[in-house]
Amino acid sequence: MTTSTEHNPIDVSGRRIGGDGFTLIAGPCTVESREQMHAVADAVAAGGADMLRGGAYKPRTSPYSFQGLGREGLELLAEAKAETGLPVVTELLDVRHVEDVVEVADVIQIGARNMQNYALLTEVGRTGCAVLLKRGLSATLEELLSATEYIRKEGNERVMLCERGIRTHESAYRFTLDLLAIPALKEMTDLPVIVDPSHAPGRRDWVESMSMAAAAAGADGLIVEVHDDPDQALCDGPQSLRADAFAAYADRVRTVAEIAGKGVPVAV
Ligand code: PEP
Ligand code: MN
Repeated sequence: MTTSTEHNPIDVSGRRIGGDGFTLIAGPCTVESREQMHAVADAVAAGGADMLRGGAYKPRTSPYSFQGLGREGLELLAEAKAETGLPVVTELLDVRHVEDVVEVADVIQIGARNMQNYALLTEVGRTGCAVLLKRGLSATLEELLSATEYIRKEGNERVMLCERGIRTHESAYRFTLDLLAIPALKEMTDLPVIVDPSHAPGRRDWVESMSMAAAAAGADGLIVEVHDDPDQALCDGPQSLRADAFAAYADRVRTVAEIAGKGVPVAV
């Protein structure tokens, strides 16, 4: 593995990711409407989130499920960014959308299903935009790090890794959140390690404990799903934190992160 280690922490629009800071990225799974985006963005901003997430293009298991609002979703993200001042993390899943996505994204999310889409990774590398690379459903850590090289070989070093749960024989929950990936990746690379505590449990009541566990294990931050009306969400409602509960959640998780030595504000 030829991963260089000189780029931790990395800078994203005035936020430092990695080092002794803890980055909280929060927002809806999917951008659904102006009202939804504003409600969630305001709540996570008020609760102290460092960045806003939201998908305009969604990789759905079924082609008949809601695929996201596309360009309209990107516009709503841009509005929410202007309103809150929070940098935006949004998914890119098709090279044809690169130009539109980089106009709005401060961080391009590459989803688990695209971790080994090497043409996409190469294009993302060429944009120079910061990247959140999610671990593939069955990918080893070596494969995850190898995928980062497709981005880095284009001269883009602003890559953060994301553990989001892997597929195992266990069927009692959606995915197995591999928290040992945190210390293991920290030994293998200096790239920041972010944990997604939402997609593995697939249910809201297990998200906070997984968030705390990730913080305790040394994660550099979390990317968590939040919705103002999760029962009506078009995607991933059951696992989304309620917007009005976000601030208290964020306080508790940050307390754990501080114990783990990550108490320095990420805004510079
Ligand atoms: C998401 O973040 O909403 C998402 C689709 O994640 P993943 O690619 O990890 O399934
Ligand atoms: Mn989701």
